Amino acid sequence: MSMENLLKEEELSLLRSTLEGAGKILITCHTNPDGDALGSMTALMSVLRRRGKEVVGVAPDRWPDNLEWLPLMGEVRQYLRHEEEVKDLVKDVDLVLMLDHGRLDRMAELGEAVAGLQVPRIVMDHHPQPEEGALLTLCYPGFCAAAEVVYKVLDQLGWTQDMTADEATGIYCGLMTDTGAFAYNSNRPELYRIIASLLEKGIDKDHIYRKVFWASSADRYRLLGYLLYVKMEILHEYHAAIITFTNQERKHFQLKNGETDGIVNYPLMIGGMRLSIFLREDTEKRGVIRVSLRSVDDVPCHDISAEFFQGGGHRNASGGRLNCSMEEAVEVAKKAIRKYAEILKK
Ligand code: 5GP
Ligand code: MN
Repeated sequence: MSMENLLKEEELSLLRSTLEGAGKILITCHTNPDGDALGSMTALMSVLRRRGKEVVGVAPDRWPDNLEWLPLMGEVRQYLRHEEEVKDLVKDVDLVLMLDHGRLDRMAELGEAVAGLQVPRIVMDHHPQPEEGALLTLCYPGFCAAAEVVYKVLDQLGWTQDMTADEATGIYCGLMTDTGAFAYNSNRPELYRIIASLLEKGIDKDHIYRKVFWASSADRYRLLGYLLYVKMEILHEYHAAIITFTNQERKHFQLKNGETDGIVNYPLMIGGMRLSIFLREDTEKRGVIRVSLRSVDDVPCHDISAEFFQGGGHRNASGGRLNCSMEEAVEVAKKAIRKYAEILKK
């Protein structure tokens, strides 16, 4: 299927020669890796291995249990808690491919290790404001997922013709998870041309959907019920909602890794809501509140996150953190909501 070209001729030839010249390649993604980060990573690991490269995939930290089934996931290393082992494994790489993030600091400690390697980096991403310093920055904020960038780049290299069903599965997982199963950020027709190609490679999209979205523990849904019934504060006037979740409360639920992901989306299902903020105590670091923001239309989560929560992300989906108590975090969230009142009340 013919698609519009993404890369300029000089970018394509630099990419091709850099990949050809590299014997061993490290692929990285951002902290709290999601379906896009890991789907893109595992797909690209496989494509490059079939082309004779030695490839190491490393995530900065833990991933959700519902992504464990992804093809090749068993070979992705986790930097947190395995630092020495991973450092040894990547010390002789020739090239780093940064997927689903355009900044070293989005990898926490792994970012410092990557900077220390002193080898060229290529970014394939869709977040705004990638940093300088990479050999090649293939970053398209209009794209719904890093998986879309990876697919388009592979297509232009002529490497999608022999793409396997497993590789196509990783790409589809990225497209599906970063669009909430095509509920947002998913109006570009090109996206569906890519999906048509993936179906032709043999993916089972219904199966992928169930593996990712219908795989929670019963406790995850009990928690959701509790949070919506007891812990959701709706600021009707501002079309905004705040949900809080403490580690004390967490003790009552047997949650698998990543099972608080997605809870931030639920308040937006209430008609007229424009912003949802989910505040949860970090399970590892005391005194840290992790923040997730989701919005609709022109409400700029990434700006709110940068201004109030030391974070960033996309316009309608961002994250950040605060070093304070939950009570203080709620106050910060309310301050943010009041600051953006004009746009929220529209
Ligand atoms: P989540 O709420 O799922 O943790 O994050 C939502 C989105 O915001 C993801 O695309 C993620 O990459 C981005 N994000 C989360 N935390 C940060 C952060 O601290 N900085 C930046 N720049 N982006 C973030
Ligand atoms: Mn992404």
